[in-house]
Order: sequence, then structure tokens, then C-alpha cells
Amino acid sequence: MTVARLTIDLDALARNYATLRDQAGVQAAPAIKADGYGVGALEAGLRLWREGARSFHVARLAEGEALRGVLGDRDATIYVLDGPTPGSQDRLRTARLTPVINSLDQAKAWDGPAAIHIDTGMNRLGLTLDEAATLTGRPDVALVMSHLACAGQPDHPMNALQLARFREARALFPAAPASLASSGGIFLGRDYAFDQVRPGISLFGGGPHDRPDARIATVATLEAAILQVRTVPAGETIGYGGAFTAERDLRVAILAAGYADGVPWTSHPKGAVWFAGARRRMLGRVSMDMIAVDVTGCDEAQPGAMVEIIGPNLPVDEAARAAGTTAYELLTRLSPRAERRYVGAV
Ligand SMILES: *Cc1c(COP(=O)(O)O)cnc(C)c1O
Repeated sequence: MTVARLTIDLDALARNYATLRDQAGVQAAPAIKADGYGVGALEAGLRLWREGARSFHVARLAEGEALRGVLGDRDATIYVLDGPTPGSQDRLRTARLTPVINSLDQAKAWDGPAAIHIDTGMNRLGLTLDEAATLTGRPDVALVMSHLACAGQPDHPMNALQLARFREARALFPAAPASLASSGGIFLGRDYAFDQVRPGISLFGGGPHDRPDARIATVATLEAAILQVRTVPAGETIGYGGAFTAERDLRVAILAAGYADGVPWTSHPKGAVWFAGARRRMLGRVSMDMIAVDVTGCDEAQPGAMVEIIGPNLPVDEAARAAGTTAYELLTRLSPRAERRYVGAV
């Protein structure tokens, strides 16, 4: 019996890639850091190459090396967002990676092709405009880029402010292609597209505005089997900490999924699953490797039946919101324990 299953739909990934690229109207360079937001960076990278992606962004050196390993001789540009960290130069060169320069120290530490990352308001990584101005004579600037802090909120005033600052920044490097927008930014309008967009979360099924979006297809579906169905009499509690008390007699299904499959402890008290055509509430805490759900009056609830925890009927953004987190965190924590199955060609 399959107990917990994670299905990754690579055809849906391909559809999302086309949607995002067409929306932007420019080259789309997938961000496939954190193991491709949990769905498998190598499978995603190969499929996205087949769909026409020629540049990719990863966070860590090791992620870039692994992606180069599967892309092999293909002429892909792989940007490493951490940049040339101390001691990484040889490995960057060996794997033919293009680091993103985030500081003047990094600019000194690397003399090959590089992206220049300018901070326009996020205050995470990147050069100030004044610092960037000292690098205008640099050859081999492959990309000038910045990252939006509030792109998921289209009305946020940070977006226009960062756009204005980025226009100034890119004017310093008129010969280099420019990139500002991630998933959210792609839907802020063509002003934000420049020469390249860098979608991440919406490739993998998360809405660009932190809520489900009809334009984005589900990529990851997490299901778990029912291990047992039991009656819990009114007044009894369920699960760790006795956090839920049955308000009446309930039929309860115990599912074979828990923290190690990527279901957060914080799913109580708002969490839900989808089964037999309806949403069913989680009862009590996710208790290590198991979840209790309310199947009162549902005859289909039998041991072995599969229940959807994240998927087309329970979008990752909703599951995340119920657990007090984001689709980013939920997806990147999909664990290797759930049995993985890929649908569609790699
Ligand atoms: C993660 C990241 C992206 C992708 O962002 P999403 O919001 O997931 O689309 C793009 N650019 C940079 C610099 C990033 O760190």
C-alpha cells in the first residue's frame, strides 16, 4: 500500500512556464533553487530546458553544480545567486557557473562573466547604486538584476519605487540585459519585464499573489492513505495535546502523513484535506506521522483510500495559509519520505 505519495506533474510545469513567459513577453529564466521549490530541481531543469529555458537561477553553489551535472554540455547559463563566496571560485569555473555579484568584495573576488545585483529596496543582497556606479567599466556583465520585495502585492508602493530605482541602475550598464521581475513582478505589467524575468513559485504551482490563481496549474499533489477509520465519541479528544474535543460522535480517518512528509504542525486548527468530493477538516494536531480528519457520514472513507492534502482541490496557497505559512515554505519542505512520482516527460 502506498502510504504517502507526492505526484509532480511536469506537463503542468511546462504549461506554467509558457504562461509566465507569454505574460512577460520576454525570455523567462526559471529560479529553481531549493531543489526546484521541493519538486526536484534536476527533473524541473531538464524539462524546462526542453521547453526553451536557456538561463536558470539557483541560490547555492552546490545547486548550480548539480544542475550543470544534469544539463551537461547544453549551452545553459546558470546564475548562482549567492555569488562568488570565499573559496568558491574554482568550483564556479569548473561547473561553468555565472555568479551574481552582490557586493564590492565579491566584485573583486571574481573576474569572469557575472551578473550584477543591485539592491533597490529589499535590503537582502546587492550593491547600492553608488557602489554599482564604480563597476561600470567592468567587462563581461552578463545581466544586471534586482529583486522586488513586495511583488506579491500589486498595490504595494514598494513596486513602483523599486522600478524607478532599477531604471537608474540599469542605465549604468546599457549594454547588459536587465532583469527585475520574479513571479509576482511578471503580473505587474510589461514595464517590469525588461529583458528577462525570473519566475520561481508560479512555475511550481503557487499563485503570483500568494493565493490560488486560475492561470497557474497545480504541479505538486500530496496525498496520504487512510490507515484506519474509527468512531470518536462526543467529549473525547484527538491527537497530541488533546487539542481537539469531539463536539458530537464523529467518524474519523487517520491518514499516513505527518511532519516528515511536509505537513506542518501548525496546520491545526485551520487545516483541511480533500476527499470524496468535499473538503474535510483536520481534527487536532498533526501528530508526528499521522493526521486525523473528519469523515463523518462519508462511506467512501476506508483503509487504503487516498486523501488529497495539497493539490488541485486544495491549492498549496490555501494549505499554506491555513498553516500560517506561505506556499514557498510548504513546497520547499515537501520531504523525500513521501513516495515520489513524476507525470510527464522529464
Ligand atoms: C527566489 C528568487 C526568484 C524567484 O522568485 P519567486 O517569487 O519564487 O517567483 C527570482 N529572483 C531572485 C533573486 C530570487 O531570489
